[in-house]
Amino acid sequence: MKYLAFALFIFANTAFADFRVVFQQPKNPADAVVFRLLGENHALEEFVDTLSREIQVPVRVPIIVRSCGAPNAYYYPQDRSVTMCYELFSEHFQVLQRKFGNRLSSEEVAKAVASEFLFALLHELGHAVFDLHQIPILGREEDAADQFAAYFILTVKSYSILQHAPIYMEAFKYGLFDKLVRGKTLYSDEHALSEQRLANLVCWGYGKEPQQFQEVAIAIRMSQHRASRCAKEYAQMERSIRSLLGDKLRINSHGQPFSPVSMESANAIGSMLQQYKCLACHDVNARKIGPAFRDIARRYRGGDVEQQLIFNVMAGSTGVWGEVPAPGLHNIPEVDVQKMVRWITSL
Ligand SMILES: [Zn+2]
Repeated sequence: MKYLAFALFIFANTAFADFRVVFQQPKNPADAVVFRLLGENHALEEFVDTLSREIQVPVRVPIIVRSCGAPNAYYYPQDRSVTMCYELFSEHFQVLQRKFGNRLSSEEVAKAVASEFLFALLHELGHAVFDLHQIPILGREEDAADQFAAYFILTVKSYSILQHAPIYMEAFKYGLFDKLVRGKTLYSDEHALSEQRLANLVCWGYGKEPQQFQEVAIAIRMSQHRASRCAKEYAQMERSIRSLLGDKLRINSHGQPFSPVSMESANAIGSMLQQYKCLACHDVNARKIGPAFRDIARRYRGGDVEQQLIFNVMAGSTGVWGEVPAPGLHNIPEVDVQKMVRWITSL
């Protein structure tokens, strides 16, 4: 329970039981680890009950969790079932433990694998919903299934499932690398590259809940250019999904308007300003070598200048506030610069 329940947002609604979990006994000890992880205290069954209330499908869709002999997860349209193979997650558990074992506790790795399972399950249910309702799709169905999963996760506010994506997407990469060494090219795969899928997930999260996903956006080194468009990207995705699925998706959007103003605590910003040595030349209230932050805020108040200021900070500038040039801070992630600029201009 503790591994799965952390990610789940259970809420009351009328019963509409159309997904049903079917656990089969694992066939080897590694699969048994995953079986225990998922089976604890019926956490998965509870989650699937929630899905059944929120996602309407015309038939019962069994979710079969079993040893398959290969790492996989798929929707099978012929019998309208979803299969989740223990091997996919037992393999990923081992990959992630090898890769992150010295940085993350095994509890954290277990949480990442549980998050991956829930994300992968929702992705497969996306395929199921598209097929069962014959939903039109432009572009890759794999991308649309990622959108379906992310939309659901964000709407029910189970953010941690997506916040763990940078960890479990490393395991996805491992699987694709395996394809590559077997002589196949990644570019012909029906999925986008794992790095792109990860950036999409984080962007959608950031677009809907910037505060929740700011740290993850930094961690994956998302460009400011992309980050600045994520709110619109998410809004378009939400509009499309709601228009295509209508009342088949019962979850209500709790979407909030995108707020570009970071609510980052002053403490976090303070340590950033220190770390990047901004305070050597600037003070909040008084002019030092450079202008006071409050003067900068006063000068640019109300203007649409964020991009320009981010550019100035990163590239360096001279002549704006006097003749002493401000050195460029090329090595700082843009997302950090953006946070500092937003904080300074909000003073
Ligand atoms: Zn898929």
